[in-house]
Amino acid sequence: MDLYEHMGKDLFRAHGVATPRGIVAETPDEAVAATDELGGSSVVKVQVQVGGRGKGGGVALCRSAGEARDAAARMLGSDFKGHAVTRVLVEELLPIAHEFYTSVLLDRSVGEYLWMLTAEGGMDIETLARERPEALRRVHVNPGLGLRAWHLRELVGVLPVDARDGASQVLRAMWSVVQEADATLVEINPLVQLEGGEVVALDAKVTVDDNALFRHPDLEALQDAFPVDPVEKRAKDADLQYVKLDGSVGIIGNGAGLVMSTLDVVAQAGGRAANFLDIGGGASAEKMATSLQVILSDPSVRCVFINIFGGITRCDVVAEGILEALKQVEATVPIVVRLDGTNAEEGRRILAEAAHPRIVPVATMDAAAEEAARLADAA
Ligand code: GDP
Ligand code: MN
Repeated sequence: MDLYEHMGKDLFRAHGVATPRGIVAETPDEAVAATDELGGSSVVKVQVQVGGRGKGGGVALCRSAGEARDAAARMLGSDFKGHAVTRVLVEELLPIAHEFYTSVLLDRSVGEYLWMLTAEGGMDIETLARERPEALRRVHVNPGLGLRAWHLRELVGVLPVDARDGASQVLRAMWSVVQEADATLVEINPLVQLEGGEVVALDAKVTVDDNALFRHPDLEALQDAFPVDPVEKRAKDADLQYVKLDGSVGIIGNGAGLVMSTLDVVAQAGGRAANFLDIGGGASAEKMATSLQVILSDPSVRCVFINIFGGITRCDVVAEGILEALKQVEATVPIVVRLDGTNAEEGRRILAEAAHPRIVPVATMDAAAEEAARLADAA
C-alpha cells in the first residue's frame, strides 16, 4: 500500500521526522484559509501517487493567499499524468539551502534493508549510482541488529558537516517508521537543509507491506480516503482484476499468466496496452459484458484484444458470451478475438457464423497481437 504524501508526512510526524507544517485542502477556499494559517505564503502540491510533480507543474510556490487560490483552482479537479487530483497539500514555504536524497527499502535479495543517501538532491538516483557512485552512500541494515551508530556515520558522512546531526535525527526517526509501520520503502526526496540549518523532509514516499496491514488498522483505514476511479470500482465490484496502463490496446484474458504474456506479445508486435483485465475462470456472458464495458469505457482504447485459453472454461461458451455481451454493450472499436483450448473449433465457428461487424477472429496469439496492434495504430 502506497501512502499519499500527506499521509506519509502524518506518519513521519508521529515518529519524529521533521516535516513542514501542512494542511490538506479540497477546495481553493480551503487552500486560502490554509495559507493564511501558515502565515500568508505556502507551497501547494497535488496529492497523486506519481512522481515528477515538481517538474510537471504539480508544485506551486505561492507568495500570497491569492496565488494559493489560483494554484489550487488550477490543480483541483484536473488530471495530473492520468491521476485525478482531488486534494492538494498546502505547506509552509520554507527557505531551502541544500537538497539531499535518502531512502531505505527492503532488499529482498539479502533479507536486509538497503539505505541510500546522497548530498546531490534533484539528481536521478540510478544515473548518480552509475556515473558518480562515490557520491551515493549505501549501507545494509540488518533488521535484527537495527540501525546502528556506524550506519549513521557512514551515511551522513557525505553531507555538509553542519547538516549531519540533523540528518542523523531524521534517519533514526525514519527507522522507527520502517519498523513500527512495517514499511518496505521510505523515501525522502528532497531531504533539505534550511537556511537556518535544520534538516527537514520536504517530500514523503512510504510503502507499507500489504501483508502486514492487519497489524495496522489505522493505516488500512486510510485506503477509504483514496479517490476511487469509477472504472476500477466497477471492475472490483464484479470481481475482475483491472489495471490501467497508458497505451491503446484494451486486453481481456483469462488467468494472470495468460494476461501477462498477452501484454508481452502485444508489446512485441509494436502495440501498447491501454489496460488489462483478467476475467479469471468461467467467462459467462454477464462477466464478458461487464469486462467489455469496463475496457471500452476507457477512451484511450482503440482496439480490444480478447485472448482466451479454454481449460475448464469452454471456448464455445466464451464465444456466445462475447456475442451476448455485444447485445448489451455498444462496441465502437474493433475486437480481435483469439480462442484456443477446450472447444476452440466450436467457439471459432460460432463467431464466424455470427459475422459481427466489430469482431475480428484470429487463430493464433502472435497473429492476433499483430492484428490488434495494427488496428489500434490505424484508428
Ligand atoms: P516531486 O517532484 O513529485 O517529487 O515533488 P517534491 O515534493 O519533491 O517537490 C518538488 C520540488 O519542489 C522540491 O524539490 C523543491 O525544490 C520544491 N519545493 C517543495 N516544497 C518547497 C518549499 O517549501 N520551499 C521551496 N523553496 N521549494 C519547495
Ligand atoms: Mn520528491
